Amino acid sequence: MNQVKMFLVKYAEIGTKGKNRYVFEEQLCKRLRLRLKPLGEFSVRRDFGRIYVEALSDYDYDEALSRMTKIFGISGLCPVTVSEDLKYDSIKKAVLDHFENWYDEFNFSFKVRTRRNNKAFPINSMQMDMELGHELLVAHEAEGLHVDVHAPSVMLDVEIRDRAYIYSKIIPGPGGLPVGTNGKALSLLSGGIDSPVATYMIGKRGVEMSGVYYNSPPYTSLRALEKVEKLGTIVSQYSGPMKLFVVNFTDIQLAIYDNCPHDELTIIMKRIMFKIAERIAEQEGAQSLVTGESIGQVSSQTMASLSVIDNAVDIPVFRPVIGMDKQEIVNYSEKIGTYETSIEPYEDCCTIFVDKHPVTKPNVNVIRQHEQNVFDKIDEMIEPALQTREII
Ligand code: ATP
Ligand code: MG
Repeated sequence: MNQVKMFLVKYAEIGTKGKNRYVFEEQLCKRLRLRLKPLGEFSVRRDFGRIYVEALSDYDYDEALSRMTKIFGISGLCPVTVSEDLKYDSIKKAVLDHFENWYDEFNFSFKVRTRRNNKAFPINSMQMDMELGHELLVAHEAEGLHVDVHAPSVMLDVEIRDRAYIYSKIIPGPGGLPVGTNGKALSLLSGGIDSPVATYMIGKRGVEMSGVYYNSPPYTSLRALEKVEKLGTIVSQYSGPMKLFVVNFTDIQLAIYDNCPHDELTIIMKRIMFKIAERIAEQEGAQSLVTGESIGQVSSQTMASLSVIDNAVDIPVFRPVIGMDKQEIVNYSEKIGTYETSIEPYEDCCTIFVDKHPVTKPNVNVIRQHEQNVFDKIDEMIEPALQTREII
């Protein structure tokens, strides 16, 4: 296959944004430019409700495609064959070339759909559909090519603008909205399967994500931290650059361990994680927290536990995998490419901090009371924990 010089970028929901549409389109252009920059010279431009990516130098096609198909907001990418001049014969040649380049066999139905945005072009769309359809049949009818105007397997689009743009293949993108169009959120990112998926899902709605990881050295290893960094890197291929805050949590965990009933360790620990996250969110201008919790998955994720944990903060907490089964979350993580990293065996939470019989129906008043045992200490500890956070 010849190297593709141009792509038409299809986006779904942006189209419904009315007056703000250009904001969404600009954001998408920005993301495309940023991701393509290391691969060569590209022009990314908006043109009457279309976004075109044009390669101005050689580039690595597979890498470019792998990057572009991960950008939120893109529903599909169409490789475009361009006819620079608008003479009928040139367009015809480009159409025939396009078929030759993109199809190995021709036993399928098709339809030509011309849009003539450039009214200076003398042939109207219907005539173009018929003429070009005829040319393609002459070339490939013997190999099985036939016309189906109602349900063609291949729709060949021909757009007559400043040049003629010809495309028929759609390479699917992730959908969603361009990141940066829907505020900011802070994700509690652990090394497991669920929180990277949750981070991806909120990012997909156009939200700029950052992450916080609670690190408990020496009870957790450096490998566990590296694993979280790696997960953040994978998610950021979709959601764009992401800050990761690493909070040193060891002293706080030890204080909880020494001062609170052990069956309440996890709940109290979660509440404090949330409180710290709320503080970071405030400083970062993030409007919500995101976690990978799912109802009933573990004892700290019963309805009662979730409500007690929620109660620790005022900021909204979003849990996009709340209604998903474990297997559904696993499938999702395989699809986005985080699964293999998530199942690496470095635990992010040492077993000594987890009780054998944790409460499943915690009472918020009781928890609050027991929290008081550590509260003075915790308040003192949150500050240094916040200050020693690393930003990756
Ligand atoms: P995951 O699969 O996302 O790691 P999990 O199954 O281990 O989650 P829990 O340990 O109960 O479940 O954690 C529930 C949620 O709390 C996680 O999805 C994550 O959002 C947050 N969380 C847990 N541990 C940490 C941590 N060490 N750092 C940051 N967030 C955490
Ligand atoms: Mg989980």
